[in-house]
Amino acid sequence: MSQFWSPIVQTLTPYVPGEQPKLPGLIKLNTNENPYPPSPAVATALQAVPADTLRLYPDPDSSALKEALSTYHDVQPNQIFVGNGSDEVLAFVFMALLKHEAPLLFPDITYSFYPVYCKLFGIDYQEVPLTPAMEIDTADYVNQSCGGIIFPNPNAPTGIALSLAKIEELLIKQPNAVVAVDEAYIDFGGESALPLIHKYPNLLVIRTFSKSRSLAGLRVGFAVGHPKLIEALERVKNSFNSYPMDRMALAGAVASYGDEAYFQQTRKAIIDSREQMTQALEKLGFSVLPSSANFIFARHESYAASQLAAGLRERAIIVRHFNHPRINQYLRISIGNPDECKALIQTLTLLTSKH
Ligand SMILES: *Cc1c(COP(=O)(O)O)cnc(C)c1O
Repeated sequence: MSQFWSPIVQTLTPYVPGEQPKLPGLIKLNTNENPYPPSPAVATALQAVPADTLRLYPDPDSSALKEALSTYHDVQPNQIFVGNGSDEVLAFVFMALLKHEAPLLFPDITYSFYPVYCKLFGIDYQEVPLTPAMEIDTADYVNQSCGGIIFPNPNAPTGIALSLAKIEELLIKQPNAVVAVDEAYIDFGGESALPLIHKYPNLLVIRTFSKSRSLAGLRVGFAVGHPKLIEALERVKNSFNSYPMDRMALAGAVASYGDEAYFQQTRKAIIDSREQMTQALEKLGFSVLPSSANFIFARHESYAASQLAAGLRERAIIVRHFNHPRINQYLRISIGNPDECKALIQTLTLLTSKH
């Protein structure tokens, strides 16, 4: 009964993730999961975790994973924070680094978890409209004092990437604000801001294993930045949960980073499919935003997105449709494997040929 709820709970509007229906034969292109399995090295590593060790708490510092990440990304372990999926890492970022007097800035069209964290943590925020071309214009973020800036690069759900030069300009023009770059999709295109962390103590880069590493079910994410930013995240984490990373997650994540060839192969397969899908959709009369991610954001000239989404669903294909007025004519379609892409195009061909 809600009489027992804390006052804050009464005010929350929780994030609604893309649905996970369990229908046989369903083609699921709605949550940007990777269509390929994780590296076989991950399965081997998970099987090698002795069940007996699950009696014992895992390493509270996740040292082995920080070691693997720091070697791969050429940073020090104290420049890395790891957490239970990047959503948890982001929650700590909002709490530890983005809550200040002045409002936090993020795009009006972006990852819809950001305003949810703001309400949970009592953070004042201001949504900055994307340009008519649905791009982030960094000029809109510089001429005001702010409590921080966050955006995904490439942005979601548009898939459009922001150049490194623009990000650097932002870091220079807002030296007193943390600029958090959520790089959930960076392995599919765009330029990572990671090389800039050595130069700018106000830059924090957030990454996830859920998309390009095919490990959404393992829940692993991380942040990279100046040791002082990382220390803030560790302080919050150690005031919340000493062991967000379990033994299985640590073993699987380390193994994933050990198989570079597989990572490159699956990453490339998705990029190739994205380019093919873009062309096929354009032939069907869709306008497709230039995507650097593992999804496509597209609208049809003459068919309503909600209708197309419903038609696809009737034929066991689910894509994401957002009810936000600026983007309710778009569909966000995750890149599936070649068979799934083919089925999607065939079904859309059918749906857009009827009058
Ligand atoms: C998928 C996604 C995340 C969440 O990733 P998890 O690591 O699975 O929690 C964060 N940010 C953006 C922009 C995403 O699309």
